[in-house]
This record gives sequence, structure tokens and C-alpha cells, in this order.
Amino acid sequence: MNESLKVLIEIQELDTEIQKAKIRRNTLPKEIESLESQITRIKSEKEKIISDLKKEEVKLLELEVDLREIQERIRNYQEKSRQVKNNEEYRAMLSQIEHADTEKRKKEEEIFLQMEMIEKMKEEKPKRIKELEERISELEANLNILREELQSLQESLELREKKKTVLVEKLPEREKQMYEKLQSRVGPYVICKVIKTQLPKGECEYVCTGCYSVLPLSFVQELKLKQDYSKCPNCGRIVYYYEEM
Ligand SMILES: [Zn+2]
Repeated sequence: MNESLKVLIEIQELDTEIQKAKIRRNTLPKEIESLESQITRIKSEKEKIISDLKKEEVKLLELEVDLREIQERIRNYQEKSRQVKNNEEYRAMLSQIEHADTEKRKKEEEIFLQMEMIEKMKEEKPKRIKELEERISELEANLNILREELQSLQESLELREKKKTVLVEKLPEREKQMYEKLQSRVGPYVICKVIKTQLPKGECEYVCTGCYSVLPLSFVQELKLKQDYSKCPNCGRIVYYYEEM
């Protein structure tokens, strides 16, 4: 095989690896971002469980203050009812006491419900917090894996780019120029295999893997015979014959 072709094939393999790595490198930041926002969301969910409980405990204290105030009022009314001068005043006082009693019962009921709710929240809190913390550490582990992947991807990309530069320098001037010109024109895949594809009835045809056009038989026969590269008559990429094993 032609020496330049050997180098071109090595460059092609590197180009393929570089391209794959670049595609992965472009999708990774989004995956990382999504994990980060999931972690933030779960952390705030955890904070909310703690702050919700605190809020309800404060509300309970307020209800208890209200109850004490009502009890105080009832005591005052009872005190006053002993000092009234006539029946009318007495009845008015009794009605006040009755009214405050109803209020008191309502408040006691509210306190009871509030205590029940707090108890339930306290019961559920450790389990819920544990679940969220487990989820957070799981996501953080995944996040670290992705960050490390991005880091090593970056390093291996640089390494491959360097290797490629060395290989391109090894090419004779004519091939080097051709490669560089083509790369700026057709993108990352400059050197392509010609592959044989089977057709029905035992026939076959040869295809450029750069543009997927069918190549003339005589053109392919010459490639095979000389074990050299040529340019695809359709897309202009560097093509060589490759026999599928
Ligand atoms: Zn082509």
C-alpha cells in the first residue's frame, strides 16, 4: 500500500475519534446542567420540609396564645358577673361568657388538629429527608462522573489533535494541501472508504462513504488494483478501497 495512503488512513481514524469526542463534549454540558438543577430542586424541597414544620410549630404557639387570651377573658367576665347590680346586667354577662366559651372550644379544636398535623409531619420528616438525601448523593455521584468524563474528553481530544498534526506533517506537500483544502470545504470527514454493497440477485455496487453515491466500476477497479487513493468523482473527498471482512 502507498505510504501516503497509510498515513491518510491513520488521519481518518483520528478524525473519526475526534468527531465522536466533539459530539459528546457538546452534549455533556447540558447533561451536567440538568443534573445540577435537579440537585438544587431536591435541596430546596428538603429545606421546605424543615421550614414548613417550623412554620406550623409557630402557628401552634400563636393558637395557644389565643387560647390563653380567651381563658383570661372568661375569667374577667366571671369576676364581673359576681359584681353585677341587676338581672339584666347578669344575663348580658352570661351571654358574653357563653360566647367566649364557644370561641374557646373552637380554639381548642384548632389546637388539637394543629398538634395532630405537627405530629404527623414530625413522623414523616426523617424518612422523607433520608429519601431526598439519598437522591441528592446519587445525583451528585452521577454529576462527578460526567464532570470527570468532560475533563478526560478534553484531554484526549487535545492529545488526538496533536497526534493528527504530527501525521498531517508526515504527508507529502501535495497530499497535505489536498487534505487541508478538503477539510475546510467538506468538514471533518475528508478521507473515506469505498465499500461494496450487495444488491439483490447477487449483484453488487461500490459506494463512497462520504457522499453515498455509487461509483463507476472502472474507477473502483483501478483503486483496488493500485491500492492507492483517489478523489471521489462526486464529492471530491479522498477515497480508498476497503474490503469488508
Ligand atoms: Zn463521495
